[in-house]
Amino acid sequence: MTKELVLGIDIGGTNTVWGIVDARGHILSTGKISTKGHPNPETFMQALYNNVNAGAPAELIPQITGIGIGAPNGNYYSGCIEFAPNLEWKGVIPLKDLSEKHFKIKTRITNDANAAALGEMQYGAARGMKDFIMVTLGTGVGSGFVANGALIYGHDGLAGELGHVIAVRNGRACGCGRKGCLETYTSATGVV
Ligand SMILES: [Zn+2]
Repeated sequence: MTKELVLGIDIGGTNTVWGIVDARGHILSTGKISTKGHPNPETFMQALYNNVNAGAPAELIPQITGIGIGAPNGNYYSGCIEFAPNLEWKGVIPLKDLSEKHFKIKTRITNDANAAALGEMQYGAARGMKDFIMVTLGTGVGSGFVANGALIYGHDGLAGELGHVIAVRNGRACGCGRKGCLETYTSATGVV
């Protein structure tokens, strides 16, 4: 039986995790590669493509109808990772285009905390809620704002960045170039 499946990709500062998921949120196959050690995003995408094809049962691949990527500083509107302080890739990285080039499957990208908020709304702790915020703690502090059942992207696709609200004036230096951002204190790295 052919199902409509999606490939979900979570790009983290250290590892990139992928899962092939059905409409009910069941994870049918999963794997991971290191995000680090690929200074060129093109070779990263090639490695990810190879890993999915080697790791997933062959019959699942043709059933994938869409790809969703959550990435630090992923911009839903532009399809790019933009100036992510916690990744090796600097500047603007056209990740949506790279994914579509290698996988030949329509791809959407958003920032990792927005993707987490969508996931929790659909399948998790925020199921049935229409207004909530999702806060993710890891290398950084991410947040996704949902109002009236819709994710808030803002005019530039980067709305609701709680981690870069200044919590301490002239405080710790942040990867974004400013000082005293909340994430320099409350992220996993900040707490350590
Ligand atoms: Zn910052």
